[in-house]
Amino acid sequence: MSRAMDREAFVVRYGALYEDSPWVAERAYDGGAAEGGDLGAVLRRVVERAGRDAQLALLRAHPDLGARLGSLSEASAGEQSSAGLDRCSAAELEELATLNARYVERFGFPFIIAVTGLDRGAILDGFRRRADGAPDEEFATALEEVHRIAALRLAALDAEPDVARTPVAYDEVVRLAHAALVRHGADDAHAAAIARNVAAAERDGSESHGLFRVAGYARALTSGVIDGRAVPRITAGDGAVLRMDGQRCAAPLAYETALPELARRAHDKGIAALSLTNVAHFAALWPEVEWLAGEGLVAAACTANFAYMAPFGGSRPMLGTNPFAFAVPGDPPLVVDMATSAMARGDVMIAARRGRSVDAGVGLTRDGTPTTDATAILKGAQLPFGGAKGSAVALVVECLAGLCGGPFSDEATDASGSGVPVGSVFVAALAPEALGGPDALRKAQAFLERLTRERGVRLPGARRHARRAHQGDLHVDEATLAAVRRLADP
Ligand code: NDP
Repeated sequence: MSRAMDREAFVVRYGALYEDSPWVAERAYDGGAAEGGDLGAVLRRVVERAGRDAQLALLRAHPDLGARLGSLSEASAGEQSSAGLDRCSAAELEELATLNARYVERFGFPFIIAVTGLDRGAILDGFRRRADGAPDEEFATALEEVHRIAALRLAALDAEPDVARTPVAYDEVVRLAHAALVRHGADDAHAAAIARNVAAAERDGSESHGLFRVAGYARALTSGVIDGRAVPRITAGDGAVLRMDGQRCAAPLAYETALPELARRAHDKGIAALSLTNVAHFAALWPEVEWLAGEGLVAAACTANFAYMAPFGGSRPMLGTNPFAFAVPGDPPLVVDMATSAMARGDVMIAARRGRSVDAGVGLTRDGTPTTDATAILKGAQLPFGGAKGSAVALVVECLAGLCGGPFSDEATDASGSGVPVGSVFVAALAPEALGGPDALRKAQAFLERLTRERGVRLPGARRHARRAHQGDLHVDEATLAAVRRLADP
C-alpha cells in the first residue's frame, strides 16, 4: 500500500467510518495502514484487537435509532434519513422509543443496524427480534453491524472523487492571504485583518469562508468594490447605538475599531448595537460574535447580501442567503452561525467547482424547477432552510440589515461581478448581568452544560472548537492553495 497521506489527513478522511471513534483510524495508521487495498479489513482488525471495553465504548458511541436527525453525525443522519427513519409515524416513533429503552437497559448499548438498503418495516422487524436476544450473541451481532456500516461508508467514500489536499502551516496561510491581498490593492492593516479572518475560517474547517475567499477579495479590491485603503469611521451616536461607515472597507477591518467600542458601550449601558454600513461582508459571521463572547457579552449579528434566494412560495431570488450568528460566553463559548439558505452559497460554489451535485431542496433552476445541479442553482435561485420558517428568519435578517442602511438584497447590484456585497451589518451586544442579574450567565452556562451531557448532543460551535484545538498543519484544497499562491506570488 502506498503511504501518500500523512496521519492527520488519513484520520480526517477515515476517522468517521466508525461512529465518533477516530481512534480506529488512528491505530490503523500507526500500524502501517494507508489508503486503498484492504483498508476495510485493517480497520476491522483494529476493532477486533481493541478488547471488550473499547468495543463497548464503540457500540455506545452510536445514536439511538430514529434519534433526532440534528443530533446525529453527518453520516448517521444521511443513512437514517435514506431508510425513512426521519419520516416515522407517531406510533412508529413511540415503538422505537420503547424498544430503544428496553434494548439499552438489557444490553447496555443502543440497537445498531446497518440501515442502508433496508426500509422502516424491515428495520423495526429486526429490532423487535433482536431486543430479546442473548447478551453475548447480541454484542457480537451489534459489532458485526458496526463493521457493515463502516464498510458501506468506506465504499461510499471511495466512490466520491477525492479532493487533493496539501499540509500548510497556519502562519503560511496568513502570509499567503496577506501577500495576495496587498498585491491587489489592500494596505497592510486591511490585508492583515482579512488574512487573519480567512486563516481562522480555514483552521476551523469553515472551508467556504477560508482561503477559498481570497480570490473574491482580490477581484473586489481590483475592481474598486472594496477600497483597500479605506479608513472606517464612527459617524454618529455616543449612546447605545454605534453607527459606523465602513467607507467600502472589508468587514474584518471595520471590526478592529467597532467591536472594542461596542463592547465598551455594552458593558457600560447593558446593551449596545452596531449599525455598520457601506462595508463588504464576505466572511463567516462567527468571528464577531465569538470575539464579543470572549469579552463576556452575549452577542448576535446578521447581514444581507445579494438576491440569491427565493422567498418561500416564490421562485425569483429576492433575499440574500442572510447569515445569522449568536454567541454566549463560556469555555468554549456557544457559537451559532448559519446561513438562512439550505446551503451556504460558498458550499454550492465549491460543489459546482468540484462537479458534485447537492441535496434536493437546496435550489431551483433559472426557470424555477427544483434541481440538484449546483451550477444551475448558482444561475437560478437558492432556497431557504426549513421552508417558510427559514424564509421568515431570512426576512428578519433582511429587515435588520436594511434598517441599518441597506441596501436590501434585491436592490444590491454586483456590477463588477466580484460576488462581494457592499451593504450593512447589524451586531448586538448584551451584558448578561444587565439582563438577569449576577447569576444569569452562570445559569445559562449550566443549562448548556446539561445539554452536552445528553447522548448525541453537541453545542453549535463545538465542531470548530474541536478542530481548533488540534495543533499542526492545515490541510488545504490544492486547487485553492495554487490559486492563492498565484495571486500572491505570480
Ligand atoms: P452550517 O450548516 O455548517 O452550521 C450551522 C450551525 O449549526 C453552526 O453553528 C453549526 O455549528 C451548527 N451545527 C451543525 N451541525 C450541528 C450538530 N450536529 N449539532 C449542533 N450544532 C450543529 O453553517 P452554514 O453552512 O449555514 O453557514 C456556513 C457559513 O457561511 C457561516 O459561517 C455563515 O456566517 C457564512 N455565511 C456568510 C454569508 C455572508 O454574506 N457573509 C452568507 C451566508 C453564509 P458548528 O460550526 O460547530 O458545526
